[in-house]
Amino acid sequence: MTGLYIHVPLCEKRCRYCDFYKLTPGEIDSMDLYLQCLEIELRRLPSDFAPNTVFIGGGTPTALSPSEYRKMLEAIDRRINLSQVVEFTSEANPGTLTPDKLKAMRDGGVNRVSIGVQSFNNRALQLLGRIHDAKTAIAGYHMLRDAGFDNVNIDLIQSIPGMKPADVLADAEKAAGLEPDHISYYNLIYEPGTPLTKAKDEGRVVPPGDDEEADNYFMVKEYLEHAGYGHYEISNFSKEDRECRHNVLYWQGGEYFGCGPSGASHWHGRRFSNIPDLNTYTNRLLKDQRPFDEVEHLSKEDKARETLVMWLRMTAGVDLDGFKKVTGFEVYDLCGAGIESMLEENLLQRQDNRISLSREALFISNAVFSELL
Ligand code: SF4
Repeated sequence: MTGLYIHVPLCEKRCRYCDFYKLTPGEIDSMDLYLQCLEIELRRLPSDFAPNTVFIGGGTPTALSPSEYRKMLEAIDRRINLSQVVEFTSEANPGTLTPDKLKAMRDGGVNRVSIGVQSFNNRALQLLGRIHDAKTAIAGYHMLRDAGFDNVNIDLIQSIPGMKPADVLADAEKAAGLEPDHISYYNLIYEPGTPLTKAKDEGRVVPPGDDEEADNYFMVKEYLEHAGYGHYEISNFSKEDRECRHNVLYWQGGEYFGCGPSGASHWHGRRFSNIPDLNTYTNRLLKDQRPFDEVEHLSKEDKARETLVMWLRMTAGVDLDGFKKVTGFEVYDLCGAGIESMLEENLLQRQDNRISLSREALFISNAVFSELL
């Protein structure tokens, strides 16, 4: 399995917690040059590259106009062999959806949409600096269904300051009540330099404590499982056979190209990320130069350790024989002592030939992973 990621560096407005690379309409007049250079970059990919998944993210892909969106999809279709694609996702911000845009997406082959609802609580949405309220998010979701999208993810954010357990549960209930195919439930991260981090550092917003966060996480997990969503990855829940194949590809250590400014690639043991700056990105491509600087070469052992950690993100865990087959390494040769001690501490569990995170470790997985890397 291989994947293609496209980064659209445009958002209506910057959310207060976000550090992804993007520009806002006041900072850029036209997306024409971006689209032109994206096509140059796509043209430079190996001619035998035929991804199984495509994911258009950002930024906000749906901040593009319908005609810009259409041009982007046409460029992808012109330059990439899409014959093997089984899942073609676009992210969408509910505050930017129009029937024309959704038609352009459908016509161009998008068959899955991930809508960034984040919360159904208007106070929380304001705190996060989202451009939409809960009503717009619900209307956006219905617009997607009306446009014929039969595979929809709702993104929610957990641990939003000020949300009481009842508010957290209400978010999960409202999301599940809409019956999306998939629900992502990512933790709010305080990225350096964002307005929300500044507000936290100055004591103007107070995140929930660790115990409260963990209680909320398990409350939502249990609620969603009861509502028919399988918990297949630390932060992801889906109806049967509706897992996000593009993300599963990442978690299984698969290879992919990431195009657009800041797009990250992992191809044939090399990792590289495009410069997160639209001017530099376009200048380089117009001069037929590559849009990235550093190329990281992973040793086989580093790659195997990384694969181990990525597989552990999935609740199915690591099949020991499968791991050996894919990486050439025995899990116990790589980090047997660490695994034994985490089995003893009940952070990992072993069932037959499979090792996975224990329930207790799901919420502190980063600590487990740092022991194994
Ligand atoms: S819409 Fe998404 S990418 Fe854009 S600023 Fe908000 S969180 Fe970041």
